[in-house]
Amino acid sequence: MSKSKIGVVANPREPLHFASFPKPNLEAFENPLRTQMAIHYLETSGALERLERYDAPKASVEDALLVHSPYLVDTVSLMSEIGSGQLGESAYASPELLRSALLAVGGAKRALQAVITGEVQHSFAIVRPPGHHASFSNPMGLCYFNNVAIAATIALGDNNVNRVSIVDIDDHHGNGTSEIFYARRDVQYISVHEYDYENFGVGHFNEIGWGEGIGTNVNIPLVEATPDSSYEEACRRVITPALKQFKPDLIMVSAGFDAHFSDPVGNMNVDSKTFWKYGRELASLSASLGCRGTVWVLEGGYNPLAIGPCIHACLEGLGGQECPKLYDQIAREENELIVESNREVFDQVLGALEPHW
Ligand SMILES: [Zn+2]
Repeated sequence: MSKSKIGVVANPREPLHFASFPKPNLEAFENPLRTQMAIHYLETSGALERLERYDAPKASVEDALLVHSPYLVDTVSLMSEIGSGQLGESAYASPELLRSALLAVGGAKRALQAVITGEVQHSFAIVRPPGHHASFSNPMGLCYFNNVAIAATIALGDNNVNRVSIVDIDDHHGNGTSEIFYARRDVQYISVHEYDYENFGVGHFNEIGWGEGIGTNVNIPLVEATPDSSYEEACRRVITPALKQFKPDLIMVSAGFDAHFSDPVGNMNVDSKTFWKYGRELASLSASLGCRGTVWVLEGGYNPLAIGPCIHACLEGLGGQECPKLYDQIAREENELIVESNREVFDQVLGALEPHW
């Protein structure tokens, strides 16, 4: 084991995929500034000094084929050559798309490798484009290759990893990851998200898996403007018991920060303290369950000034440090009605799943 127990994988500084749209188009917010400013924040705050740092290598097309159809991979490849065009809902090509998507997969793989080989206990891949909306055949929602799903599949090839849990804390439901592993009993998918009332059914608590996978898909659909206390309660009442029941050998995290109150895309009401708590709790569970460690991969989070503090808070939680006082932690009101509504959601989630645990 090296001196540092946490590693960070950084996207390269070269020009990367950017589908050129004006704001307020959703696509405009998923841009290279996100990872550049996050890494700049971690460098200037001194947070990176105590960590192992790795560059994201480029993955191969064969890695993408581990969870995606040849049709999806060919489409991403061909439209990158063309340099523009629409691949799916909110998924557009640029000349840098294929290379950037493979670098993001490579970053997730490197983060996984650092934990699997024991170089570090926990790792965080600060990469883009994100992945959790990309399903077997469909790029969508700013996602092309499902970075976490590919890394989880590779992890299961290790002799000591028979079960992987993926905890998705992005503001949105990771429909792609959920679909890819929906009938699998060796991959647990747990998503805490803002429920999309315009897409009834997607991310609903009654989606609990299929066939051998029944009970392994855990959706926690929270109401809009959910505050920190409900996220803490979701962790205590659902995520922690679900992980204890599943007993994974490895915990992966789809680490989106668009639930931050300042995010221009998500509509929740949390700050970096919540992400510190999730870091602390998942590190503690990883140790008590005898996991190899935790592997975090960036998903959403579209305020480039908030992603850095949120990752910093996660890393401090993972390292067992006190919660740092960061500039995004400002006093905000909690709506008790929202907290009560979420309590009903937790009851419904557990009611749907517990018979299968
Ligand atoms: Zn999101």
